[in-house]
Amino acid sequence: MAAIEEQDVRIKANDGVATCDGVFSATHYTSHDRLVRALKALGAMWGLAIVAVFIPLAHFILVPAFLIAGPVVARGRYKTSVAANDVVGTCPGCRQNTKLLLQSADRLPMWKYCPKCNAPIQIDAN
Ligand SMILES: [Zn+2]
Repeated sequence: MAAIEEQDVRIKANDGVATCDGVFSATHYTSHDRLVRALKALGAMWGLAIVAVFIPLAHFILVPAFLIAGPVVARGRYKTSVAANDVVGTCPGCRQNTKLLLQSADRLPMWKYCPKCNAPIQIDAN
């Protein structure tokens, strides 16, 4: 079963002086979860390939593309054991509480922009 792990982080402003605390959240997948996620991705891509068979002309491109994308996406899902979720904390620039949504491949340390004031911030392990 997937477990969500939280880690305290330090959010720094671009000047490197102002810092605030935050919480980084990531989902850890077991080998069974990774296999299920990979099979779901493979089924979705190949399902789209079946649907694309009925689209005139585009099926010459879409069907092979989805058939090839299936194993590629499934392999990526299987290799993902930790997926970043979000960072919740106070922006050192505008001093507002922010929730920064992350991409699954994001790792600490990372550089992002505050979604409220658009200031560049560095997120690093505490
Ligand atoms: Zn801000």
